[in-house]
Amino acid sequence: MEFKKNDLVQVTIEDMSHEGAGIGKADGYTLFIKDAVIGDKVEAKIMKTKKHYGFARLMKVLEPSKDRVEAKCPQARACGGCQLQFMNYEAQLAFKKNKVEANLRRIGGFDNFTIEKVIGMEDPWRYRNKAQFPFGKDKEGNIVTGFYAGRTHSIIPNRNCLLGVEVNEMTLNEIISYMEENKVEPYDETTGKGLIRHVLIRYGFTTKEIMVCLIINGTSIPNAEALCRQLAKISGMTSITLNVNKKQTNVILGDEILPLWGRETITDYIGDIKYQISPLSFYQVNPVQTVKLYQTALEYARLDGNETVWDLYCGIGTISLFLAQKAKQVYGVEIVPAAIEDAKKNAALNKIENAEFYVGKAEEVLPEKYEKDGVYADVIVVDPPRKGCDETLLSTMLQMKPKRIVYVSCDSATLARDLKILCEENYQLEKVAVCDMFPSSVHVETVACLERK
Ligand code: SAH
Repeated sequence: MEFKKNDLVQVTIEDMSHEGAGIGKADGYTLFIKDAVIGDKVEAKIMKTKKHYGFARLMKVLEPSKDRVEAKCPQARACGGCQLQFMNYEAQLAFKKNKVEANLRRIGGFDNFTIEKVIGMEDPWRYRNKAQFPFGKDKEGNIVTGFYAGRTHSIIPNRNCLLGVEVNEMTLNEIISYMEENKVEPYDETTGKGLIRHVLIRYGFTTKEIMVCLIINGTSIPNAEALCRQLAKISGMTSITLNVNKKQTNVILGDEILPLWGRETITDYIGDIKYQISPLSFYQVNPVQTVKLYQTALEYARLDGNETVWDLYCGIGTISLFLAQKAKQVYGVEIVPAAIEDAKKNAALNKIENAEFYVGKAEEVLPEKYEKDGVYADVIVVDPPRKGCDETLLSTMLQMKPKRIVYVSCDSATLARDLKILCEENYQLEKVAVCDMFPSSVHVETVACLERK
């Protein structure tokens, strides 16, 4: 049977895509249905058809899956942020474990391995220490803030995202009342006019320090004292700054920071290590899970204090400093110069003297140091972005023959691809752990340990 747009069909969901859409068949034709859960029987409306599969919109759940739950957030379907809010947390973790397993099997060609642990959260809500809210206007001309609807830039008003901390809402309320009282206009993407684009809010989970950075299409705001006075009433307020971004772009932050009130950075801890975080710093967004992730990386590295360790794609040195507590010497490599500045500052702040950092591409720095200076590694840790490691880097790692490689990954597909190359001859996949850094989303972090044969 041929389906066309707007046809209504009944589908039993049998599988889920790695992006979190339910998959089921209508008359043998495969349909992807967002917000449907494995085990659901649903009524769906065909939206788009292709030769071998199509996309349909969930209209009604006819018989709910045993894993289906009521979404906690009233905006869950409209907002682009959460893909798995309709599944109970155990089912979310099972989905993530399956996804990693499937990629390691299918792409990596591994068949003899087990996922040793799946590290979930005790309370999978309000885990984010960072949020960026855009400002705009609704049809009536009221200033609104919230989140972009999936794949678009229309703002769904929501000051109380359940993944973010509670202080976000108080902060947003103060900013909007300041804007209303002082007639400060939100930025309009289509015209390029208006002043306030976004606000970046960060919260130190251990220190309770709050950072507010307003991203503006200009270099100052009217009556800044009034804004600071209002925000300073919030307990924990530590840093208020402006960030200048006058470009017509989707990139949220510009390069320039102008201090308004308090300090320019906030402090937070991961385990025993203290970090100084500026509005522009990269910093893991789920501090509770980050500790567990790094502890797993450290556990897999099995250091006894005599090792030389390379931490590639080190960011602000978070993993490096963790490893430095147990290694003889750690070298970090990262492409963003500002992140390396932070890494060095954070090493000094923690009086860690056995960590050294280099700016550059991992696939250039490591081969060069290896060929020219003959550097050595007992253990190599990598934590690349989604696209994974460059092949030149993998081949240098193989030549350096560390006794162990710990691969931390935010994309299990590229992880599987890279592990396949590393395990062709001299290494074997020893252990895999899955860590849930982003409950309610489809993202999953994986740590794999390779041993030299
Ligand atoms: N390990 C860090 C950061 C991991 S995110 C942490 O846990 O905080 C990946 C990092 O890789 C980012 O900081 C990014 O800037 C960096 N990066 C991207 N491409 C790179 C490359 N070719 N060489 C080195 N670093 C790179």
